[in-house]
Amino acid sequence: MKNIEGTADLAIIGGTGSDISLDNVEEIKVYTPYGSTSAAITIGDFKGMKIAYIPRHGIDHSIPPHKINFRANIWALKKLGVKFIISPSAVGSLKKTHSKGNFILVDQYIDRTKKRTETFYEGGQLCHIEQADPYCEYLNNLFFETGQEMNLDIQKGGVYICIEGPRFSTRAESQMFRQWGGDIVGMTTYPEVVLSAEKEICYCCVAMVTDLDVWAGECSECGIVEYAQKCENCNGTVNKLSVNVPEVLETMVKNAENLKKMLELGIQKIDMERDCHCHHSLTNALL
Ligand SMILES: [Zn+2]
Ligand SMILES: [Zn+2]
Repeated sequence: MKNIEGTADLAIIGGTGSDISLDNVEEIKVYTPYGSTSAAITIGDFKGMKIAYIPRHGIDHSIPPHKINFRANIWALKKLGVKFIISPSAVGSLKKTHSKGNFILVDQYIDRTKKRTETFYEGGQLCHIEQADPYCEYLNNLFFETGQEMNLDIQKGGVYICIEGPRFSTRAESQMFRQWGGDIVGMTTYPEVVLSAEKEICYCCVAMVTDLDVWAGECSECGIVEYAQKCENCNGTVNKLSVNVPEVLETMVKNAENLKKMLELGIQKIDMERDCHCHHSLTNALL
């Protein structure tokens, strides 16, 4: 394999709307100790930067969330020299205030996954990585400013409940996630975020709300309320709102242009020479 270090500064791991326009594009296949990445990695030039792109679910969207080879993806990006990862993710809302089409820059997660390998350190050298604030604050601030400049509905900070999938939640689970303080629910930020920390890469999750998950119902008088037989405000009838794939895809497509523009504008502002504290996350983590 030719030497590929220094091939890319920044990577996007994403799907619809996150394939920003790159010049001089080439595809690189990186062999990893963990098997195949989700697809060959696209590398291209963007405003003087080298950007790598991995379609998280494969080129034909055939890899379900629980089968993504997160370790291969992150290991490969580190090998390319990537220092910043931007990770757009489609999520359901757990709060009335997060409407369809809103963007949230995640700053916390709660892990509800069950069968994913979540570390590169499986024996020999031990690593206890800090995760108190797992997302890069520098990138969150930068994309928040960018979203505001674009007049998007964007929020800085939010708790992402990461479920195993591929199924959606039950209503009881959805209500429990709300009680836990969750803002949004999705299937992909974990363990991408912690693996990035183990490789000392800045990681930013740009979440796009595509649906209201199953806690919500719609009252003809009061609008969106917590689903119940009768509306707790007016005692009227509450209609169920179900999550379904066509709804999620429709919102993603509608948002794709906004996402793409936000990524293109935000990435231009990143100081690629910046020495972020994320780049030193192993300093006190190794035993
Ligand atoms: Zn950082
Ligand atoms: Zn009502």
